[in-house]
Amino acid sequence: MIASAESMCRPAPARRAACNAEVDLPRLERAVREILIAIGENPDREGLLDTPARVARAYRDLTAGLRDDPARHLARRFDHTAGSVHDVVAVRDISFHSMCEHHLLPFSGKAHIAYLPAGRKVVGLSKLARTVEVYARRPQMQERLTAEIADALSSHLDPRGVAVIVESRHLCMGMRGACQPGADMLTTAVRGTYATDSAARKEIFDLLTGRSARGV
Ligand SMILES: [Zn+2]
Repeated sequence: MIASAESMCRPAPARRAACNAEVDLPRLERAVREILIAIGENPDREGLLDTPARVARAYRDLTAGLRDDPARHLARRFDHTAGSVHDVVAVRDISFHSMCEHHLLPFSGKAHIAYLPAGRKVVGLSKLARTVEVYARRPQMQERLTAEIADALSSHLDPRGVAVIVESRHLCMGMRGACQPGADMLTTAVRGTYATDSAARKEIFDLLTGRSARGV
């Protein structure tokens, strides 16, 4: 089973409401005002008056994953009685936005996920996208994001194998430093069968990257 991830990444209203109580918005606003002063801006000029409050709310949303738990999304599994126990479950093109923890600048891209259920228990496809969101919406490194998604699926779904590919573009690399606006970063994480069996790993990577569908 392969699915595209279109429309899976809508924010959950209940979680967003819960986050409101746990983020110190006034403190964030004071910090943003300090940044504006430190760079030589006037935080009291008309265009910047509401900026600290806006940025505080944006940071609350961009870090909502810190106050969420993948277990909440992966706990509910159901029987997949029609398939064989050898069927792989894969989702390609799960869009995400995250924040590089070194510069607090965005990096955005797509995650491709596959797992091999141990029995016939599977999880809803949207829950895989939620899991990506939980780990993306926090200060992150792409390498850790990829590993954390793989580990969450491994521990909560108890599958025979997990493969995760993340490709993304980092604004901190495009806007500053190396100034490589067109460079994509690619990371992978494999667990179980896909870590030990190189033929299975090649097969699942071909599936996730679309090479098998294009006959490449
Ligand atoms: Zn960075």
